[in-house]
Amino acid sequence: MVQPAPKGLQRKRNMREILVEGKLISEEQYKAAEEVSKKDGKPLQQALVDLKVIPELKLLKVLADEWGFKAVDLSKIQVAPEIVQLLPEQLARKQLCVPFARQDNAMFLAMSDPRDFLIVEDISLRTGLDVKPYLALSHWVLKVVDGVYGKQDSAQVAQLVESVQQSQSQAKADGSEESFSLAATEEKKDISDVDASAPEVEKLVNAIILGALSIKASDIHVEPFEDANNAKNSKVLVRYRVDGMLRAASFTIPWNFRQAIAAKIKIMASLNITERRIPQSGRIQIIAKGNPIEFRVEMVPTVYGESCVMRILDRASVRVDIKIMGFMPDTEKKLLDQFAGIGGKKNFGLVIGCGPTGSGKSTTLYACLNYVNRPDIKIITAENPVEYNIDGIIQVPVNPDVKLGEGKKFDFASALRSFMRLDPDVIMVGEIRDEETAHIALEAAMTGHLVFSTIHTNDAPSALERLTQMGLPRFVVANTMKAVLAQRLARRLCKDCKEEGDPTPEELATFEASGVKVPAGAKLFRAKGCDVCKGTGYKGRVGMHELLVLNDEIRLQLLKDPSAIPVKEIAMKYGMRTIAMDGLEKVLMGLTTVKEVLGGAAEKE
Ligand SMILES: [Zn+2]
Repeated sequence: MVQPAPKGLQRKRNMREILVEGKLISEEQYKAAEEVSKKDGKPLQQALVDLKVIPELKLLKVLADEWGFKAVDLSKIQVAPEIVQLLPEQLARKQLCVPFARQDNAMFLAMSDPRDFLIVEDISLRTGLDVKPYLALSHWVLKVVDGVYGKQDSAQVAQLVESVQQSQSQAKADGSEESFSLAATEEKKDISDVDASAPEVEKLVNAIILGALSIKASDIHVEPFEDANNAKNSKVLVRYRVDGMLRAASFTIPWNFRQAIAAKIKIMASLNITERRIPQSGRIQIIAKGNPIEFRVEMVPTVYGESCVMRILDRASVRVDIKIMGFMPDTEKKLLDQFAGIGGKKNFGLVIGCGPTGSGKSTTLYACLNYVNRPDIKIITAENPVEYNIDGIIQVPVNPDVKLGEGKKFDFASALRSFMRLDPDVIMVGEIRDEETAHIALEAAMTGHLVFSTIHTNDAPSALERLTQMGLPRFVVANTMKAVLAQRLARRLCKDCKEEGDPTPEELATFEASGVKVPAGAKLFRAKGCDVCKGTGYKGRVGMHELLVLNDEIRLQLLKDPSAIPVKEIAMKYGMRTIAMDGLEKVLMGLTTVKEVLGGAAEKE
């Protein structure tokens, strides 16, 4: 006779043993469920329920009784997102478990297999919470996870591309747009509701877009690459920009779809589909997961065919709150001080954001607008394009490149001129890129308006120099400018995997050269890489700010000599941190790395 194992180590029967040997279902039924589970990639428990071989609640109860755990019926409870988020998405999906309640130091964890005490221990270690395992059916666990983190789009995208590749042999994809019937005006429907009967091209375009949304990409690049020597190597490459870095999609598009894809995108963006030699730009509005999302689309002819770049203008996903933009406390205070006493024409002048494209300067300006936005303040903006909607603000799209009949166009300058008649308190002009706009912006600032704008220079002192170079009198610039904020973005270290270490001699030299003191014994963090950050070591971005606030001494200097170098010296004397200095402070705070700061600060226009 076999000795029974000591209590606690007793082997618990697995699902097959419980269900088949317990005569609850037949061996055949179990095998069928196993097959469905393997084929459709869904959990076995779900397959059993879907095949209706055992009712959901009965399955839950039987397993709970057998394994000796309490069960939780997740279909009956509403779990708060902040509870679900106690566990990272990847971990929840991989281990099929989700927290459903929390009390003091205890986390109540719904698990598809609570017998696995290693997972319980692991989660307890990661979260520092006392994990109370409960049994739940795996598909309900996934439903709760999906509800908070969104559906797992990457799997969906892969499936879409695969289905197209399978049916490719039958598809008449000879590369000409005529072989696809693409309606010019299409009813907007939610692209995340995958329609298996949709034309292949539409499936592919939807897959490309869904792929971008699932990894929170800011841009999508769709580019044809032809290998003349080996046709098999020719492909349409899809790349996504995430946190400023381009990364290849997990799939490529079959080469013979290249023209059809370009045509489909052009139709969606209301562009001329027969024009393939000159660049075109337009917009696409789609609905994904019930949210409207807008893309700016640029089609560019290349030697291999048309390339397409889509920038996502996801209005819902942007939270433009100045308090969470990563300003150093003293910089934030100096900036917000500029907006004190606004209203009644008492606070006026020009505030400029500068930095290259993609430095986050417009987002910061939106945050400033949000900050000054109150019911009694009238705010008007002229933007190209309107990137985010802000409640209570009049936002006017301008397009300098579109002519409105004989010699007329609606550009920043003409928008500004018409704004002055509307008597606002605050005006934002998307960009000062010519002398005319610069003149009117300063005129508006002189006549009692608080004006925000951006200019394309690398640092704050250069913005002042640039304005004088645009033909504006020095005394106007000196008397009207309030502040210039230069900005860059550095990738933010993933807080789940960053590693602490001693500063290297090179790093110390960088600090020394920038005049940022490293406290004795200070540690720096470095990128490592984990599941959460997809192995990059970074997640999200952090701003580096250089705020120049004009004072009497700087104004005098501008009258004498508006060159950037002497102005910068004075500004630094009054406590201005350069972008590199601000970045290095953030390195000391463990937010980013020296390498990122140097890369971001050196970025050229
Ligand atoms: Zn990480």
